Amino acid sequence: MRYIDEYRNKGLIQAIAERIKMSLPGYPIKIMEVCGTHTHNFYRFGLDKLIPPNLKLISGPGCPVCVSTQDYIDSCINLAGYKDVILTTFGDMLAVPGSNSSLEKARARLGNIQVIYSPLDSLAIAQNNPGKKIVFLAVGFETTAPGIAITILKAKREKIRNFFIFSSLKLMPPTMEFLLKDKQLHLHGFLCPGHVSAIIGINAYLPLSRKYKICCCVAGFEPVDILDGIYLILRQIAEKRTGVENQYSRVVTAAGNRKAQSIIRQVFEVEDACWRGLGVIPASGLRIKREFSGFDARVNFSLNLDHGSESRLAAARVKSANLQKRCRCDDVLRGIIQPDQCSLFKKICTPDQPYGPCMVSIEGACHAYYKYL
Ligand code: SF4
Repeated sequence: MRYIDEYRNKGLIQAIAERIKMSLPGYPIKIMEVCGTHTHNFYRFGLDKLIPPNLKLISGPGCPVCVSTQDYIDSCINLAGYKDVILTTFGDMLAVPGSNSSLEKARARLGNIQVIYSPLDSLAIAQNNPGKKIVFLAVGFETTAPGIAITILKAKREKIRNFFIFSSLKLMPPTMEFLLKDKQLHLHGFLCPGHVSAIIGINAYLPLSRKYKICCCVAGFEPVDILDGIYLILRQIAEKRTGVENQYSRVVTAAGNRKAQSIIRQVFEVEDACWRGLGVIPASGLRIKREFSGFDARVNFSLNLDHGSESRLAAARVKSANLQKRCRCDDVLRGIIQPDQCSLFKKICTPDQPYGPCMVSIEGACHAYYKYL
């Protein structure tokens, strides 16, 4: 099959793995694969077995479900408590733990949480239930935002008044910059997220690469893509240069999808956002603009989102000495530890009974480790 077979070609995979070995410098290298799909496919295709031990791939915060804060989940559960509300969500949000419960438990108790596959499904539910208020839980990155913006524009055009978005949309480059400031990390390169880059383009990473002298490569998701992306980063290191390379040129351009960017700008504005385990990161989220506030759940419902609490939690977790008992998703999301270094991994925390969000989604690093290692 075109775009599949040639990117899973065993001979080519071996050849790139060999090139990777030859290009490694004589010191350990740490590359972060930012996107959850990279993490998943890296282990799914056994690529970890092909790279030498002094090349460390670490997972980043590129799983939207994993970075949704407890506060956000708690507010969603509160919303579900409104008698006239139907909550709509992507399925992988259901098991994410809030402070005391999850949407899955709330669904069993209240029965008004529906799993959908697109925000447009949510709009259709609003049209079919005029006596109810339909709230879509908008979780995702730059990739998800255009579809949600289009849905809001459609709702406005069709004068649908019972449809709301509860945005937890997040932006990648500011968070990558946040990680580069982390003194514990010492990254040599970023394998940049392919899906996000299809929207924002490779130019979006140029300021980051220049300011922090970090090697970046946008890569696709097949085994050849991932290994080739790693090799292109190592080549930059070997040639003592930093920049942004585009391994995924069959999908990603320099400027990205300008139409999608324009739709995002039309409906959303940038805000500081709170990430689970990381705290508040400046200019890393999207909120609905005032002219579309009729569709903004934050404006139309009484929601008590305390962004400071996640920052306080994050600070407390960093200081906490009791690593044996706590979920270490914050350290996993910051790339400080690998999932199997968490004492709860596989013992208490499994995909059937996730203790933390990184075990919930198939894009979560802990889930990928559990499934394939
Ligand atoms: S294994 Fe479970 S408890 Fe440990 S960091 Fe991952 S999600 Fe959290």
